[in-house]
Formats: sequence, structure tokens, C-alpha cells
Amino acid sequence: MEKIKIAGQTIEPGQRYKIELPVAKLYTDTDVNMPLFVIRGKRPGPSVFVSAAIHGDELNGIEIIRRLIVSKSLKITSGTLYLVPIVNVYGVLSQSRYMPDRRDLNRSFPGSKKGSMAGRVAHTFMAEIVNRCQYGVDLHTGAIHRSNLPQVRADLSDQKTLELAEAFGVPVLLNSDLRDGSLRESAVEHGAKVLLYEAGQALRFDEISIRAGVRGVLNILSHLGLIRRRRQNKKITPFVANNSSWVRASHSGIVNTVKNLGDQVKKNDNLANIGGPFGEIFEEVNAPRAGIIIGKQNIPLAQEGEALFHIAFFSEADEDIVDNIETMQESLIPDNSLTVESI
Ligand SMILES: [Zn+2]
Repeated sequence: MEKIKIAGQTIEPGQRYKIELPVAKLYTDTDVNMPLFVIRGKRPGPSVFVSAAIHGDELNGIEIIRRLIVSKSLKITSGTLYLVPIVNVYGVLSQSRYMPDRRDLNRSFPGSKKGSMAGRVAHTFMAEIVNRCQYGVDLHTGAIHRSNLPQVRADLSDQKTLELAEAFGVPVLLNSDLRDGSLRESAVEHGAKVLLYEAGQALRFDEISIRAGVRGVLNILSHLGLIRRRRQNKKITPFVANNSSWVRASHSGIVNTVKNLGDQVKKNDNLANIGGPFGEIFEEVNAPRAGIIIGKQNIPLAQEGEALFHIAFFSEADEDIVDNIETMQESLIPDNSLTVESI
């Protein structure tokens, strides 16, 4: 089997490694390391990376990887798995989406060895991890005060990527163009098939999003043959959204929401009302067409023009999608109990 060496450490078949990958020091001459967990199966197979916190305030993915590492289901028999719980270490330290040089790390790929701080981190991550992999999952959340229904975004016009997205096991798949400078763009250019998992909101843990993420990654590893085949008790049918759009506030004010994440809406359904401090209502925010709410602003205040609801539009019956969203939630948290640990 091929020799793998990272940060001076030789990665042997059948072993697990905790590695500290050096990245740029702080001003104080303090060393900074990107934590990396590598598991290599005894048999040859594909290499897969799972990364989180490229945006430093997106924390659900960190928890997804922490739970994967201690999961009994994570027995890699073939191939190699690279788990990177915190890509943007600096952003996590300051609870910020960005790098200390105020750049968005996910717009700085592929980076360069002698570039700015963000460029160097991007380069190290590409050279040491992504360029070794044929598949990848990048874990994200919504922005601050914005929640996403668990969803996979990927280039679904590519058959292999579509199969991988379907295997993840969430009801909503969104076809999404590659963003300039994103990790996904650079990884895809290098020949890898990459999914973006978007769930929950920044700076918060969301239990359903975390559990759906852990299960999704295990499903993919099973699909690619890195772990034993998993039996699925309740099959979640994935639906591909043709497109999606944000519904914006046309008036500034105080927001009372009527519809929630995962709700099905018909054309002209009332989503929220925006009013003033004396109880008056300025605007009824209505759905532009039928679809499913896959993203939502949580703060009950809006500035005119601000995005309030993200609605996905499907060619299939919306009822079927809502049924699958409910099936997913019930299978992850049976009877709304947060104590069950079976994913
Ligand atoms: Zn993000």
C-alpha cells in the first residue's frame, strides 16, 4: 500500500493518529496547530476528508467530528479517513467567521505557500489533506441568527456526486454552483467529489443537525466502502430542489414569524408579519410560490431588504418532502427525547 506521511508522522495501515498540523504562529510567537485525526484501514480504498469550522463561528461540524471519532460505528476497514474538526483555528479562538487578516478562508483556496495568512492556511490544508483525497464533506452552518434545515449542497449534475449526496440521507439536496476561492472549488478542480453539509446556525449547537451530520458521514463512509454496510431502519428519501430563493423584508420593523423551518408553504401563505413598536403591522411577508422553508432568520428584528426566509422549490409533491423531514427528525430524536444516543 501507498506510503502516507503527514507532519513527520508515517501513517500505517490499521492505525489511528492524532496529528497537530503546524499553521502560522500568533503575534506572540505562540504556535498554532490545526488538529487532524487520521484513520487508515488495513485494506486499500478511497481517501475521504471531513472538515469543519472553515468558518470559525460554525460549531456544529466540530461536534459532528468529535462524536464521529468516539463512535463505535467508525471502524475503518479500507481506505483512509482524514477528520479535521477545526480548520480555521484562529476564527474559532475569536468566535468569528473570518481569519485574523479579515479574510474569509473559504474564499482563499487553493492559497499559496508564501501568501497571506488565509492563503497559507488554505495551502497547508490543500497540500496535506485535500490533495490526497478522492471524496470530501465540508461541514457548515447558517450565519449568526440564521438557521438552516439540514441540507446537502453539491454539484448534482455530476452523477457520482449526486449518488454521494443521496447516500448522505437528508431530505433536501440543493444543486449549488462552485464559489470562487472555496475549498469545494479547489477540491473539485483536483478531481475530488465534495459535498457541503449545511445545518443549524452559527455559535450554537443544534442536536438534530449534529445527529443528522454524524449519521450522514457514516452513511457516506459505508457507501464508499470504508466502513461496514449500515442497515437503515427508516429510509429517508432525498429530494433535489430545482432552485431556491430568499424572501426579504420590504419594511424595517419587529418580526412575528408565522412559519418555521421545515414547513411547507403555498403561494401567498403568510410567513411573518413586520410591525412597529405601537402594535401596528407594516407588512405581511408572504410566500412568492409553493415550497419548503430550508433557512430562516431567528432574530425578531428586520431591516428593510434583509433576508428572512430561504425557500426551496421542488418538482415533486411538497407533502412527500415534509413527510421525509418529519421521518428524519423522529428517527434522530425519537419521542423528542434528547437522551437517546443511537444514531
Ligand atoms: Zn460556512
